[in-house]
Amino acid sequence: MGVFDSKSSENTNIMNGLSSKEVKKRLLKYGYNEIVKRKKVSPIKIFILQFNDFIVWVLLSATIISAFMGETADAVTILIIIIMDAVLGFIQEYRTEKSLESLRELASPTAKVIRDGKKIIVKAREVVIGDLVEVEAGDRIPADCVILEGNNIRSDESILTGESVSAEKRPHYGEKKPSSENLLYMGCNVTHGKGKARVITTGMDTEMGKIADMLQQIEAEKTPLQQKLDKLGEWLVYGCLIVCAVVTITGILRGEDAYKMFLVGVSLAVAAIPEGLPAIVTVSLALGVQRMMKRNALVRKLPAVETLGCTNVICSDKTGTLTQNKMTVKKIYVSERLLSVTGDGYDSIGSITYNGIHLNPLMDEDFNKLLECSVLCNDASITYDNKKRIKYSGDPTEIALLVMALKAKVNRENLEKKYKILKENPFDSDRKMMSIICFDNKVRYMYAKGALESILKKCSSILINGQIKELNEDIRKKITAVNDNMAQEALRVIAFAYKKIQNNDTKEDNLIFIGLAGMIDPPRKEVLDAVIECKIAGITPVMITGDHKLTAKAIASELKILDKDGLVITGEELDKMDDKKLDAMINKIRVFARVNPSHKFRIVKAYKRKGFCVAMTGDGVNDAPAIKEADIGVSMGITGTDVTKEASSMILMDDNFATIVAAVKEGRVIYDNIRKFIRYLLSCNTGEVLTMFLSSLLYLPIPLLPIQILLVNLATDGLPAIALSLEMGEKDVMEKRPRGKNESIFSEGLWKKIIIRGVLIGFCTVAAFSMSLYLFQGNIKLARTIALCTLVMSQLFHVFECRSERHSIFKIGFFTNIYLVFAVASSMIMLILVVYNTYLQRIFYTQNLNLIQWAIVLGFSGTISLVNSFYWYNK
Ligand code: ATP
Repeated sequence: MGVFDSKSSENTNIMNGLSSKEVKKRLLKYGYNEIVKRKKVSPIKIFILQFNDFIVWVLLSATIISAFMGETADAVTILIIIIMDAVLGFIQEYRTEKSLESLRELASPTAKVIRDGKKIIVKAREVVIGDLVEVEAGDRIPADCVILEGNNIRSDESILTGESVSAEKRPHYGEKKPSSENLLYMGCNVTHGKGKARVITTGMDTEMGKIADMLQQIEAEKTPLQQKLDKLGEWLVYGCLIVCAVVTITGILRGEDAYKMFLVGVSLAVAAIPEGLPAIVTVSLALGVQRMMKRNALVRKLPAVETLGCTNVICSDKTGTLTQNKMTVKKIYVSERLLSVTGDGYDSIGSITYNGIHLNPLMDEDFNKLLECSVLCNDASITYDNKKRIKYSGDPTEIALLVMALKAKVNRENLEKKYKILKENPFDSDRKMMSIICFDNKVRYMYAKGALESILKKCSSILINGQIKELNEDIRKKITAVNDNMAQEALRVIAFAYKKIQNNDTKEDNLIFIGLAGMIDPPRKEVLDAVIECKIAGITPVMITGDHKLTAKAIASELKILDKDGLVITGEELDKMDDKKLDAMINKIRVFARVNPSHKFRIVKAYKRKGFCVAMTGDGVNDAPAIKEADIGVSMGITGTDVTKEASSMILMDDNFATIVAAVKEGRVIYDNIRKFIRYLLSCNTGEVLTMFLSSLLYLPIPLLPIQILLVNLATDGLPAIALSLEMGEKDVMEKRPRGKNESIFSEGLWKKIIIRGVLIGFCTVAAFSMSLYLFQGNIKLARTIALCTLVMSQLFHVFECRSERHSIFKIGFFTNIYLVFAVASSMIMLILVVYNTYLQRIFYTQNLNLIQWAIVLGFSGTISLVNSFYWYNK
């Protein structure tokens, strides 16, 4: 942080900015441009926090009691189990914290600065005093700055002042101290205009720093599912405690040792309460977020991961999201002639011809005017790198126009020498046009370009063969027909106009129409497949665009978004419709064309009224309300403004529609995985409780000793459940309908599956136990070892079934989740060691099993899983 000092700021050159050497010096001197640094939770603290848990307290008290009773082996083993549980919990939480940290890093705001004469994008925290920053509508201001140049700049300062109307700003000239009208404040958003400003204070010294920690961060806010699971967890704790108390009390009443029964109760509570569940849910959400990041979708809010799986409508912008945003002018209409333009992409090699003859702008005044307009009324730029390679920056529509001019050998530099640009009325999606005022030392001109409807409204005459003629109705119709023809061929059309400014008339009216340019913007290659995938998955893709109805229609048909039953509605038609009518037809609308950002808000509302779960994309500053309103607000990583990014729950790093679909798929996989391990954990825990409960009901001896119950818990609850959260998703995950927004996690009979399997595990373990007691002449140690192995093995078999709710493990393949194979193998090794290692036998009260005894174990634990898997295999 730091404050303005005239010396450090003055040596900022308005053209070149600071040098990178100077930036380094200033960073060292003033530190980073940050408000409050988020305190990182230290790993030690995370580890210690693992012990601050109800279950751990119960276990610790059991340890102390065991130690007092002289049962040192029990006490030590329980302690080891507590530590191992804590280590597992630590690994889960540490990973979560790390991944959230890296998300915060990635989502941190950026700034456009000019350093060493080049415009670069840096992290806002790396901005230093004296830096020259470029700001434009939609940008978040990185530090407090004084405006040096710019037009019509307005800034939303509501977070500082509470004032909802954006403040007008102007450049600061002369010696006078800059006033608030010359200053832009950190954290506020530029809503209009663009300009250059110099940083005067950073970090805690900024106005924002003074009112401190308003910095938007990604918080590990709990998702609705996590909240519901927390509630469920509470109920389970009460339920388990009651059952454990019943088991303990009936045991004592039947004359069992009270101390032993107390330990049984405690261990059972530990085994029955799925204490790892919340942590695994968080880990699987966080891991999912990381996987999405690899696929270019950056999730800013954890609940979005869950909502993604419910998405059934995706409203997507056209330009750049469905299309490549790499435009090439193909046709020009000027002086009633339709010219052809050759060449591909941004390659400046190509020609402009009329009836096969090259056109020379020097010999063709109207054509020349069109080229001048397209170059002067243009914010994109062309530069050359060290190797003389051409580099473009700016809006692709405008780059395409610069490339078109290059093909006609019209050079921007030469034009800018002739005309000095005095003012710009920037493009915005509501007006769908822009204009500039320039001066050639004699006359001032206005040049304008934009959507045909916007430009034509402001024209009163037309330039034809060097003559200015009245723009009558017939000519208007003719121009509109040419525009429609181009649009039908999926071309994006820009209209051009100009006027000589007389008597200071700088209004955008009485313009002279010059002509049109039609450019292609090819669809992104992967979008067609993504659209088809959406449809199979029961998701409706909808195009929302500011572009012409016919252009939108042509591209939507090519991408199969629009089929023969689908409707195309324009913003104008939408304005004439009341909500009732819109609701009645919204199911059929596939394309909204020529819409303004404000329409988007209405569209989201309509979908939500009809119960849809809607994802909506946006890039411009005015898209923010719609993005905020949508169930999943999606902003563009490349072209998106800071304001939209902050309003969104997900950022597309590649601006690509296919990425939204990939994220939806990932959202479904994560949700499925959560169901999988909930099914596993709850059915296993039910099985464990029932084993103890049934035996006490049947007046059998205690089937498992406390230490054995804790072992079952350790071998089955930890690693296998985590491994289930790492499932990569089933092949047909995008062939199901989206789930409902309010659907319970236990829907589609999951409850039934959990209870039936829990009961079966309990019954089988008790059956194996009582059968062994009978077969082996009441050898209780042996019977308990068999019960222990049956209970563990039932769960290790069952975990494979939990990998899918629709397919048999024989179809999915055992090795498709290698983590699970390792987890199960390590649990089995643990069990075998406990059964055969003489030292562990003493701790866990077990004994060697022979083949017949293993046959009993496997018979009782494996049969149900085997039958069940065959049943699903043949389905
Ligand atoms: P989408 O919402 O799918 O991204 P879009 O990019 O076509 O659609 P806008 O950027 O709002 O939507 O553009 C609307 C219309 O404004 C375009 O059809 C075009 O005629 C015109 N237009 C677009 N960019 C410019 C520009 N830089 N200068 C002047 N007119 C433009």
